[in-house]
Amino acid sequence: MPGDTRTRRTVMGVRIDLHAHTTASDGTDTPAMLIDRAVRAGLDVLALTDHDTTAGWAEAITAAAGRITLVPGAEFSCVHVTAEGRRISMHVLGLLFDREHEALRTERRRLRHSRELRARRMVERLQADGYPIDWDHVTEIAAGGAVGRPHLGRALVAAGVTPTLDTAFRDLLSSRQPYYEPKEDTPVLDCVTLIRRAGGLPVFAHPFARRRGPVVDHDVIAAMTSAGLVGIEVDHPDHDPSDRAEAADLAAQLGLVPTGSSDYHGANKTSGLGICTTTPEAYQALLSIPTARSALPPDSDGTAG
Ligand code: AMP
Ligand code: FE
Ligand code: FE
Ligand code: ZN
Repeated sequence: MPGDTRTRRTVMGVRIDLHAHTTASDGTDTPAMLIDRAVRAGLDVLALTDHDTTAGWAEAITAAAGRITLVPGAEFSCVHVTAEGRRISMHVLGLLFDREHEALRTERRRLRHSRELRARRMVERLQADGYPIDWDHVTEIAAGGAVGRPHLGRALVAAGVTPTLDTAFRDLLSSRQPYYEPKEDTPVLDCVTLIRRAGGLPVFAHPFARRRGPVVDHDVIAAMTSAGLVGIEVDHPDHDPSDRAEAADLAAQLGLVPTGSSDYHGANKTSGLGICTTTPEAYQALLSIPTARSALPPDSDGTAG
């Protein structure tokens, strides 16, 4: 039976997706819905990595119990400032860290606050130019999740300003547009250090996703590695074949674990869950590094969170 999960597992091996979002940030599935979808997609391991928050962990842990291995994590908003003073926005996944670690927790709270201030400022700028968008509608769409530009984009689409989320980003929300306001992201080396101190595994997310904006040079990734980076996303929907080759070469050169992931966001993006995956060898290499907490195997009772 072609759709049978067990058949697929035998043919293709264990399926591991180490980067996905929920309504706790800018995804559209609740954590429980995400787990259901991951099970239906035949995944064996899923990392939950909402932007700057662990608010989805408890629901996901309960939903995953007895069904799928869950790797609790988050995707941290970081910045690298070049010698010329250019700010390059970056994302670093933190997997299996201690969510009670005080300094990292404080940093997540600060980042979420900065997200809100910046989103309010972007709403004001759009309003000043006559676009029908209001903050209450944006918060309604974000529904308590860490607020991000996709929520602004959905408000603009709902108001009929622009046809799709993609055009909202291209024409109004991208860092190249005048309405854009940067968040006060964490300096990337500090973030890597902090994730390690909290017992987590830092993985550089979509390092060469150039469509989103400028990307960092290899020397920055080498400095991140010296600070404790352990992995780098190679297979990612925003990487073309040459980006993947570049990331794979760099991983080999720097001794980083090459990962793969869908960066699933539900209806806020087109990538399906499990569209890119991590090899079992890479996953084992990550798990061989001591962490503050363990991946929750499918036979866990969900109370360990
Ligand atoms: P923010 O974190 O608020 O700066 O917004 C960045 C987020 O927007 C990324 O994490 C992506 O999830 C999302 N994003 C970026 N480009 C697009 C796009 N063209 N369409 C939909 N979502 C996007
Ligand atoms: Fe996102
Ligand atoms: Fe990201
Ligand atoms: Zn992501």
